[in-house]
Amino acid sequence: MYRLIPKSTGLSKHYYSNLETGAVLLQSCNPCAHIWHYPRPVCPACGADSFSWIPASGNGTVASYTIVRHAPSAAFKDAVPYIVAMVDLKEGPRMTGTITGDTALEVQIGDLIKIEIPKDSSGKPGMPVFRSVLA
Ligand SMILES: [Zn+2]
Repeated sequence: MYRLIPKSTGLSKHYYSNLETGAVLLQSCNPCAHIWHYPRPVCPACGADSFSWIPASGNGTVASYTIVRHAPSAAFKDAVPYIVAMVDLKEGPRMTGTITGDTALEVQIGDLIKIEIPKDSSGKPGMPVFRSVLA
């Protein structure tokens, strides 16, 4: 499922622009080493505003999921049914996204996934998705 990247500014612009390099970035707190996702200006653990960007390994485990059977808008009409999952990344943060692939509807909690960055026909990256590594 290819979904366009939203218009962005500031921290989210840095995050989204790096998808073009194939990197899903996380933030790592310089004082306390907490790692988080999605982009935020301060550490959610200690409140410090000093952080570094680090690339995610792309590996994670399905923590929860739901099957979307009714399209939330006309843009998703041809996509249903699809899976929206919460994935615990290897680095610690929990990330929400769509599971893609022929076996997506067979997902189970605990399944291992890899992050993928789909591209449109011109090579422009879309929102990151998950794919089962067992498929
Ligand atoms: Zn911190």
